[in-house]
Amino acid sequence: MVNWKYSESIESSEIVNIKKKYQNYIGGKFVDPSSKKYLNTVSPSTEEILSKIPLSNQKDIDSAVKAAKTGFEKWSSITPQERSQYLFKIARLIQERSREFAVLESIDGGKPIKESRDFDLPQVAANFFYFAGWADKLDISWSAKELKPYGVVGQIIPWNFPLLMLAWKIAPALATGNTVVLKPAETTSLTALHFAELCHDAGLPAGVVNIVSGDGSTGANIVNHKDINKIAFTGSTHVGKLIQKSLAGRDVGLTLELGGKAANIVYEDAAIDQAVEGVVNGIFFNQGHVCCAGSRLLLQESIHDQFIKKLEKRMQTLRVGNPLDKNTDIGAINSKEQLDKITSLVNEGVSDGGDLFQIECELPGNGFWFRPSLFTNVQPSYSIAREEIFGPVLTTLTFRTPEEAIEIANNTEYGLSAGVWTEKGSKILWTADRLEAGVVWANTFNKFDPSSPFGGYKESGFGREGGRHGLLSYLKASL
Ligand code: ADP
Repeated sequence: MVNWKYSESIESSEIVNIKKKYQNYIGGKFVDPSSKKYLNTVSPSTEEILSKIPLSNQKDIDSAVKAAKTGFEKWSSITPQERSQYLFKIARLIQERSREFAVLESIDGGKPIKESRDFDLPQVAANFFYFAGWADKLDISWSAKELKPYGVVGQIIPWNFPLLMLAWKIAPALATGNTVVLKPAETTSLTALHFAELCHDAGLPAGVVNIVSGDGSTGANIVNHKDINKIAFTGSTHVGKLIQKSLAGRDVGLTLELGGKAANIVYEDAAIDQAVEGVVNGIFFNQGHVCCAGSRLLLQESIHDQFIKKLEKRMQTLRVGNPLDKNTDIGAINSKEQLDKITSLVNEGVSDGGDLFQIECELPGNGFWFRPSLFTNVQPSYSIAREEIFGPVLTTLTFRTPEEAIEIANNTEYGLSAGVWTEKGSKILWTADRLEAGVVWANTFNKFDPSSPFGGYKESGFGREGGRHGLLSYLKASL
């Protein structure tokens, strides 16, 4: 076999102008935080401090909510066609600046450029285009008299798909006539703060989109604000529960998209090589920082040894390293905190008795990295089989019959997604019918489309994003 020398292919970062310090975007203006406090945002692949972002306090949230309230008067007085045009404008501006956003996302969040360029950004634009198309058709889809926007929506998003989660939140909220106060996650706020510039360039009326950065306390200030009409949250189940408690007894709408521990079920009649590819994509996409990741591989016992052998061989070809290298498959872990969490869960898996396989590869000196990992010989009671690791770690369990596969797959407090691999269409339908999961992929994994609703069962949350269902999350019945 010829061993070709590897040559890197680095995407230039010159296209992005990262400022030394950022401001919040409130009421159509870029403003310093009244807290006068800032957080450092760090590149997870180099540990270099990239910039400072506002650590917003109660006063900042007060002015953002006030601006959104004023913005709502204007936004609800213009025609649906005009709202649609603004959204189309935003979608086109995203496409124009897509390379810049992709590079920034990879620098700030650590994800491989091939993913931010070929997945995140096209999906971001597609969501704005899709919901732009809906804005002037709401009255023919449902009776407009019965449904109306909430008003001011607080949106709190996580760090795994920073700009895409923003698009999932902002596009349907605006299409349905709401205005928003959005808080990005503290480790990945830069693309959201650049998106604020784009809203400004699109001439969006003041106060329709307000972007405030900060940490969990800033998020809590949004949730607890008396003039918020709805909260849309994506993040951990722990924080989701805190938010639900805070809103108890208040007339505030809520949708939660929380954790997952998805089963990826491979039956013995599946096309094995194709399934190996899908399993790799299911767990190692975006370093496994994916709430719907296929993190529990459920293998039919008869194919276990053959499948694991092929899987390990395929895993060994994954390239870990610089997110800006166009050949990188696995970028940096998003933060030191997340790396520590992954490491501790993996150590626990080993001490519980699981067999750990990790690929052999060199890791860069600085930054936060974790080798793609596979556990076999796992009992369903181990924490690696129950807890969301949110990293490049796959846990294998086995089953003998389809009934047993369903029992194991549903034996979790989560229910966000699942995968089924088999050559039989009837088996796909039989399995999907019995899985308690918001999304079930068959002979594929991690496929997304703005028209397809996404959301959870059980402790993975409630409410749907995407499609007509996603619009309904931002509309309420008028009295
Ligand atoms: P993770 O554990 O994946 O970082 P979190 O649920 O902690 O996920 O964070 C998701 C988002 O929720 C982030 O924007 C974070 O700042 C925000 N957040 C954290 N704690 C709270 C809270 N108590 N109330 C509201 N938002 C919060």
